[in-house]
Amino acid sequence: MHAVINPATEQVIAEVPATSAAETDAAIARAERAFESWKRTAPGERADLLRAFATVVRDHTEELAHLEVANSGHTIGNARWEAGNVVNVLNYYAGAPERLFGRQIPVPGGVDITFQEPIGVVGIIVPWNFPMPIAGWGFAPALAAGCTVVLKPAELTPLTAIRLGELAREAGIPEGVFTVLPGKGSIVGQRFVDNPTVRKVVFTGSTEVGTRIMAGCAAQVKRVTLELGGKSANIVFADADVAKAAATAPYGVFDNAGQDCCARSRILVQRTVMDEFLAGLETSVAGVAVGDPGDEKTEMGPLISRGQLETVASFVPDDSQVLFRGHCPTGSGFWFPPTVLRATESDRAFTEEIFGPVVVVVPFDDEADAIRMANNTPYGLSGSIWTRDVGRAMRVARGVESGNLSVNSHSSVRYWTPFGGFKMSGLGRELGPDAPEAFTETKNVFIATDE
Ligand code: NAD
Repeated sequence: MHAVINPATEQVIAEVPATSAAETDAAIARAERAFESWKRTAPGERADLLRAFATVVRDHTEELAHLEVANSGHTIGNARWEAGNVVNVLNYYAGAPERLFGRQIPVPGGVDITFQEPIGVVGIIVPWNFPMPIAGWGFAPALAAGCTVVLKPAELTPLTAIRLGELAREAGIPEGVFTVLPGKGSIVGQRFVDNPTVRKVVFTGSTEVGTRIMAGCAAQVKRVTLELGGKSANIVFADADVAKAAATAPYGVFDNAGQDCCARSRILVQRTVMDEFLAGLETSVAGVAVGDPGDEKTEMGPLISRGQLETVASFVPDDSQVLFRGHCPTGSGFWFPPTVLRATESDRAFTEEIFGPVVVVVPFDDEADAIRMANNTPYGLSGSIWTRDVGRAMRVARGVESGNLSVNSHSSVRYWTPFGGFKMSGLGRELGPDAPEAFTETKNVFIATDE
């Protein structure tokens, strides 16, 4: 059993059984048997079942949201969005089964057609920072493509995934098609990598574990999608609406207490507007409402665990150049205030993913300098560009090596647009119109028409 802790109160809220390696293998075998009928289920019927699943999740939005507030310390507003995201993703990919088109390619002497065949059993490994959306981004397109799914939530945050597994059954998704297996990464997750019946692993988590998973999958040429870490830049040019850039910057990095792979945790500011930007940022950081995540007005909750609190604190040693900080509660709970540091490109706070509410601010001189600094990282997940010059916006967007960029905005994720990383931020893409194809193999068939 594994104790699940509310990070805002440090109280134990549930005990969850840890699935063993043998139980994982048994669940994978059930998923393999279920695959035989699920892949043959008529496309329209699979679509109906996914829509039914979406409806049941929608009917339980409040329950799921409150479960996430208690388990993960997410603000109630965010948690409602996250449950709603699962509904939207299921509904969106419910449109996919009847649209998994192959092609007809002109050839002499016959007909050539391609099929998108479902790959088989898919193992999905989820991190603790966005338990519901990241699960849904994997299982919805996989199920739509005709695959069956075994899913392992993070040890710290299994409750909403377990509930989603129950809701799938309630909606009529057949037994073995979608199974949630709480437990340890080194046991359950490792079986997804090692058990040859699992034909693809979808992993979201740290770059360190992701590279090991990729190496493990290589032994079987197992398909793998990786969504890993980030160290994204928020680039503010002098010709931008500097006041708006400063007012919104905290929300581009401190959302989910900075435990967001897309966090814009390096703010690069053109030197000529640095003072103006910092004055605005000081006000906006002071205004971030940190506290009880169940309170509708709260904008930032606690960190997920004591371990994460210690990791984040290690980036702000006593001699760091703290420009200013926001507020946070004291007493029980894993609280850390929004913190703004002055840094240079060689500081650890500039080079490493912090995954907490700490942001560095660094000046740059010109456009080329900004692009060079933004790319001075092994990661490449997201980023923002603030400028009123449309040509510059396009040049910089094309120049930054990153999978998801926003101009005069901090939004990176829409379920109907592709999401994923360059460089060490990942491999493959999730979401968007093409996601179901990532759960298929292309089969080419030639039919001779000669007499
Ligand atoms: P983590 O890598 O420690 O764990 C992620 C998952 O992998 C957990 O479920 C864990 O149990 C499992 N795992 C651990 N060891 C394993 C092993 N040997 N075999 C199989 N599975 C194993 O990451 P975390 O600390 O939970 O999550 C934070 C990280 O996730 C951050 O680096 C963040 O940037 C990244 N992340 C990336 C994205 C993205 O889309 N790119 C999204 C969210 C989080």
